[in-house]
Amino acid sequence: IEKTVVMDGKAIERALTRIAHEIIEKNKGTKDVIIVGIRKRGVPLAERLSSIIENIEGVHIPIGVLDITLYRDDLAHMSYQPLIQETHIDEDITNKTLVLVDDVLYTGRTIRAALDALIDLGRPKKIQLAVLIDRGHRELPIRADYVGKNVPTATKEAIAVKLTDTDDCDKVFIGEY
Ligand code: 5GP
Ligand code: MG
Repeated sequence: IEKTVVMDGKAIERALTRIAHEIIEKNKGTKDVIIVGIRKRGVPLAERLSSIIENIEGVHIPIGVLDITLYRDDLAHMSYQPLIQETHIDEDITNKTLVLVDDVLYTGRTIRAALDALIDLGRPKKIQLAVLIDRGHRELPIRADYVGKNVPTATKEAIAVKLTDTDDCDKVFIGEY
């Protein structure tokens, strides 16, 4: 059920534009930056960030993809195991700045698994995290460097993220199970 719209298409675009500028500023440019999207909806977000940065700086930012599946019955049930399915990063990540991108940050378990997978691939110089929504309820000491919007939720609530790449529109709303 759709309860409250928290971001419309314009708000999502503005947030991504701001985050793109923050990535450039924090890293004093874009040298050695690789953006890594977490499937599913982190990937279109990674592509949008890469293209916004390309428009600002005039340089191409490579993109990688991580596919992580969560084993759990539903989003309200909090104990689950993230499992790495695939990693597609063409570049050598040694000494690179990796910016992980996901749609929603919740317990932090997915990001923890993503960090393990990335560190298995090589020795990045740093890893940063960008999320469209931080909905709280962390179970691990993980935080995002770049946040589109903080949306405190009750545990029985979930955030629905719709992106035109995978859905019919760009919209974020609070739903209930
Ligand atoms: P975590 O591992 O931090 O508990 O959960 C993050 C992962 O689960 C992300 O990949 C995210 O896509 C998904 N997720 C967790 N909570 C929500 C939510 O409320 N809405 C959506 N759309 N995805 C969520
Ligand atoms: Mg996900």
